Amino acid sequence: MAMDFLFLNLRTILFCALTTMTVFLQTAKNNSHHLQEMQTTCRAQTPPIIRAQKASSLTSSGISDFQKIRQKVWQKWNLLHHSVKVATFRTRNQEFEQFFKTVGYFICCKDINGLMDAMHMRHRPEQWRLFIDASKTSLKAVHLHNGNKLPSIPAAYAPSTKETYSTMNNILVEVDYKKYQWEVWGDFKVTAVLLGLQAGYTKYSCFLCEWDSRTRGTHYSRKHWPHRQSLTPGMKNVIHKPLIKPSKVLPPPIHIKLGLMKNFVKALGVKGLAFTYLCGKFPRLTFEKVKAGVFIGPQIRQLF
Ligand SMILES: [Zn+2]
Repeated sequence: MAMDFLFLNLRTILFCALTTMTVFLQTAKNNSHHLQEMQTTCRAQTPPIIRAQKASSLTSSGISDFQKIRQKVWQKWNLLHHSVKVATFRTRNQEFEQFFKTVGYFICCKDINGLMDAMHMRHRPEQWRLFIDASKTSLKAVHLHNGNKLPSIPAAYAPSTKETYSTMNNILVEVDYKKYQWEVWGDFKVTAVLLGLQAGYTKYSCFLCEWDSRTRGTHYSRKHWPHRQSLTPGMKNVIHKPLIKPSKVLPPPIHIKLGLMKNFVKALGVKGLAFTYLCGKFPRLTFEKVKAGVFIGPQIRQLF
């Protein structure tokens, strides 16, 4: 009896197992069929992937051809193999390399006329200004077009270099500043260095006049300060011979704007109507900020 029961049980288990197996196999078959179907559909929809060899053959046919191919084909496919690096204009620098040279720690333009000719432009020194500024990592000099209608032209690049008198001197010598005498544009630090002024909070910090930074009582009330007669090393915070003429310096427009606004606010009486209007116009600015004339560009635009 017990044996019979065992056999019956075994039979049931075997039957169940077989059924499950059949169902599983059928599902698997169905699944694989679906998978195959999906793969075929995907293959039909997936655009061909460009591999490195193909891409290089495309690029070697020249830039204009390449652009046509890119526009027609790549835009349609919108897909590249992950290992392919696109460098459409990899050799574009070679044409202009002859106009630059490496001098010690920096690179500079040795033939600005030739460079501009190669870029189909004419170099007229009075139409260009030399912009010099440094970031945390490098010092750069760039020719900017007056009116900003033409592109900027790199003049010098010095990695890991600070704004110092000797660096500026080297750059100006190498770009042949004496010959072209461009107007120079930069922040006040660059201007001060170029004119040989001493760095830091000095008594005579202005290159145009003898504005005294120490007499705070006369700031914004005294309107006339004597002009600087000369920039002689050893006198009135000048420590080096100026590298450029003071008349060639273009002050930064943002500082002119902020300075005008500050002078305007300082001239208003604190108890006057105009000052009260200002306080009402900028409710989020503290009284002290308005009194000190500390405004930013967008706020100034709101007023004028
Ligand atoms: Zn001044």
